[in-house]
Amino acid sequence: MTRLTGKPPKRRWLWWLLAVALLGTACTAVFSTKLTDAPAEALARGQALLNKKTVLAIVAHPDDLEWYIGGTLKRLADNGANVQVIVATDGEKGPNRVKSPNLAVTRRAEQAAAGQINGYTRIYSLALPDRGAAKDPRFLPEVTRIYNEVKPDAVFVFDPTSPSLPYLHVDHQGSAREFLKFWDTLPQSKPPVYLFQTRRPDVAVDISAVIDTKAQALAQHISQNGGSGSRMQGFFAGSGKSVGVAYAELFRLLEGGE
Ligand SMILES: [Zn+2]
Repeated sequence: MTRLTGKPPKRRWLWWLLAVALLGTACTAVFSTKLTDAPAEALARGQALLNKKTVLAIVAHPDDLEWYIGGTLKRLADNGANVQVIVATDGEKGPNRVKSPNLAVTRRAEQAAAGQINGYTRIYSLALPDRGAAKDPRFLPEVTRIYNEVKPDAVFVFDPTSPSLPYLHVDHQGSAREFLKFWDTLPQSKPPVYLFQTRRPDVAVDISAVIDTKAQALAQHISQNGGSGSRMQGFFAGSGKSVGVAYAELFRLLEGGE
């Protein structure tokens, strides 16, 4: 009589393959970007966002605004909104493709040129250390001061808890985390916050009409991207596809009353 010592090796491989496939499916479900509401609802919220009169966007680096939300900011500016932005660092840890001897000056000039194209009213450059801005003791007091001065009716920050992958940065998620600490202390009448670089969006702004302007604004950041905004278009075409338009920027809405 032959003694059974386990499944033949071939079978064991099949089980492993099945386990890996299941794990892959689970990871895709958790880590891929997925609308949490119907496309029509998301687009309606995006349309409502475009009626805001004064907005404040908070980012870590020159080029963050233009990459993630440049189309929405341009559409807001075109509607007559007062678009004010905070750029926490000069992005000195990023590339220096133009070999600038003074990267901070170069980056700010590029940010100003991009802001001109997108119609920003004012750019606050905080010049805090790259990869240390969010935790810098000057960050939140500065942001709070500017917030109280601007009195926005909508705020844009990165998504600190469910960011879309793969690109994560300590000052992207960190700056949002710090701002939301302050926002949580405000009374319920506070303005809504629109989280970007999110993988759980429920707001979609159709940016098809301004995609060329978005690319042009992004291309101003020559010291970082060499003057090319082309990679961006494919990414936002994917976002557009999820809601049935050519190009879209996606957000997760945090309501003031929550
Ligand atoms: Zn960045």
